[in-house]
Amino acid sequence: MFASVVGVRRLTARMVRITLAGDGVGDFHYAGPDHLVRLFLPVSDDLQLPTGSDWWTELQAMPEERRPVVRNYTVRRIDHVRRRLDIDFALHGDSGPASAWAGTAEPGDRIGILSDGARYQAGDADWQLLIGDETALPAIASMLEGARTPVHTLLEVKDEQDVLDLAGEATWLYRSGSPGSRTVEALRALPFPPGTPYVWVAGESTLATSVRRYLVNERGVDKQQIYFCGYWRGTPSTAGAAAESEREPAHA
Ligand SMILES: Cc1cc2nc3c(=O)[nH]c(=O)nc-3n(C[C@H](O)[C@H](O)[C@H](O)COP(=O)(O)OP(=O)(O)OC[C@H]3O[C@@H](n4cnc5c(N)ncnc54)[C@H](O)[C@@H]3O)c2cc1C
Repeated sequence: MFASVVGVRRLTARMVRITLAGDGVGDFHYAGPDHLVRLFLPVSDDLQLPTGSDWWTELQAMPEERRPVVRNYTVRRIDHVRRRLDIDFALHGDSGPASAWAGTAEPGDRIGILSDGARYQAGDADWQLLIGDETALPAIASMLEGARTPVHTLLEVKDEQDVLDLAGEATWLYRSGSPGSRTVEALRALPFPPGTPYVWVAGESTLATSVRRYLVNERGVDKQQIYFCGYWRGTPSTAGAAAESEREPAHA
């Protein structure tokens, strides 16, 4: 569906909330706090969107000069009545088209949105462990608003400028070393409550995989109880895989 920017609000120095409006928002089936949307960012004045179910093939068939750029984002909030949808963008400069677009977005700017459902499924776990970086913050913020079991939240961000008010408590960790290393260190010191956990971890791919490896290998958490997803890749050597991940994020 097509959507237009109707609001832009800085949440922190490096996070901006873009409010989008569109006729399709009224019927948008919101499935949960990590609801994934593909954003189609225009590269020319003539924004065209794929219309069929095989959107990737259709997109590749478009002439390069008109083919929109696709990036993955999370629905932070939806208001079906007012037909408004919020997306929170972590700003990381102009090197990426999505961050560059969000950093300069203004009311009236148009993009395309394709819904791709939610993955979060806490089921009947006794407690939850929510872990992520800036890019997972929108999903985790929504999870905290709806959590019905005790939650431990660890957020690994650049520095104190990334800290946001959330609906529940969170431990904020400031990155140093490789992504995830501060988080694993904090996990080592965290006594786990009794019962079965549900773990949701997303962010830079080294963070997601290192946390999962630690929890499975050293804390005996059942793999089935862990959802993990590389939301972006920080190393140049994986740039090709990052492009592929726009089609299908590397989630479990
Ligand atoms: C399921 C899913 C949901 C997501 N939801 C959100 C969300 O709600 N909010 C959000 O901000 N992000 C979210 N992301 C992450 C977002 O898709 C990536 O950060 C994406 O790469 C940004 O695109 P870009 O065009 O700005 O940069 P790209 O063109 O993809 O990358 C350009 C360069 O920037 C680097 N880069 C990419 N992202 C970051 C970053 N965050 N910090 C530092 N460097 C970076 C890359 O390594 C690359 O070198 C989500 C990802 C997935 C898979």
